[in-house]
Amino acid sequence: MNVYDSTRMADVLTPMGYGETTTPDNADLIILNTCHIREKAAEKVYSDLGRLRIIKAKRAAKGEDMMISVAGCVAQAEGKEILRRAPVVDMVFGPGAYHKLPELIKRSHNGARGIVDTDFPIEDKFESLPVPQKKKTLARGKTAFLSVQEGCDKFCTFCVVPYTRGAEYSRPLSQVLEEAHALVDAGVREITLLGQNVNAYHGEDSAGKDASLADLIRTLAKMEGLSRIRYVTSHPRDMTDDLIDAHCDTEKLMPYLHLPVQSGSTRVLQAMNRQHTAESYVRLVERIRAGRPDLAMSSDFIVGFPGETEADFQATLDIVKEIKYAQAYSFKYSPRAGTPAASHEDPVPEEVMVERLKRLQAVLNEQQVAFNKSCIGKTLPVLLDRRGKREGQLVGRSPYLQSVYIQASDEVFGEMVNVEIETGMANSLTGHRVPGPM
Ligand code: SAH
Ligand code: SF4
Repeated sequence: MNVYDSTRMADVLTPMGYGETTTPDNADLIILNTCHIREKAAEKVYSDLGRLRIIKAKRAAKGEDMMISVAGCVAQAEGKEILRRAPVVDMVFGPGAYHKLPELIKRSHNGARGIVDTDFPIEDKFESLPVPQKKKTLARGKTAFLSVQEGCDKFCTFCVVPYTRGAEYSRPLSQVLEEAHALVDAGVREITLLGQNVNAYHGEDSAGKDASLADLIRTLAKMEGLSRIRYVTSHPRDMTDDLIDAHCDTEKLMPYLHLPVQSGSTRVLQAMNRQHTAESYVRLVERIRAGRPDLAMSSDFIVGFPGETEADFQATLDIVKEIKYAQAYSFKYSPRAGTPAASHEDPVPEEVMVERLKRLQAVLNEQQVAFNKSCIGKTLPVLLDRRGKREGQLVGRSPYLQSVYIQASDEVFGEMVNVEIETGMANSLTGHRVPGPM
């Protein structure tokens, strides 16, 4: 979502005459778009600011101005504290305020010091953002992100999102479709719908009724020029029947589902306030796979949640073995100030967390390699959206989100081609182009 937000900030800044630079050394404006989900991510901001302070001083010595801002969830959570710890910062603004960049920059140019804007609501932001232009900005090529939902009301006991991104909000259907049309007009062929709880999407449609994520996907699937639809991140509780059906009958919806389970222990899931059990998660995946047998699963895991016993952790290993993930993210529990779990009495010692994470990641890596190897000999459609490091190498994603490397003429760059897979490694596949309808 931060990648998406950065792209939208560029959309706001481009009409003001700003362009992208490849290095911070000659930038007039620097925005650190930050993440507060774990302590490590939040602390990175301060080390980056230390480096930028030196660059700003060098520019100032030459009589040049450089504006430094902190955006995103660290900005939202820490506000003025950032100015206190890093006086080099000119502006601090949260994820609900970046549409106001022109006004904030103007105020700063007019001499206002230490501007802080951590306002909500999010609706105002989406209403005032410009429609994406054909001119390519930042990460927009053949694939693009599109935020449809933001914020969260679920309050898992470990998580800062409800506090930093605010209450759950869905963009109206017409607004999402307008943005999708603009992206497709600009050449985008694959859209990933985004939200902290994207499958809780319930945007108002033209009749004033709620459209579900499945309704949105089905409407997008009719859009000519758009070849692929993905969505991320989902909560198990919001995997409704209509969304499961969409996985079975909507060809453009890719057979890949990131559905974080966090833990395989129902006891821990309850302490996390996840509102699902290990058993209900397994049953859910079985139901989707019954209609879409090639569905590749992905997940997030937290190890060392306060009170997690060895038996709880074993249950996590068990669920991993049961589901068989194609890909996954796993983290050590990181206490976040203000969340209920942070004041829990029974923390898991650091060395135990480290050891559990290692064991979990060994199993997850094994499964990822096994999944990639299972693709050898298959022919998969690949959307070639990047150039590789080697001469003549093009890279794209398979339906299962794997990176696929092929040698091919640059003429097919940006195209969807059929690739017969030759090798499967931990993080990528290689293959060669074969003819055939897409
Ligand atoms: N809405 C999604 C998750 C969004 S946060 C869901 O409910 O699944 C992304 C991931 O960060 C989470 O899935 C979780 O695994 C991880 N995470 C969040 N807070 C964390 C914390 N305090 N410590 C460690 N990992 C955390
Ligand atoms: Fe955080 Fe996801 Fe839980 Fe919301 S549902 S509180 S975003 S982990």
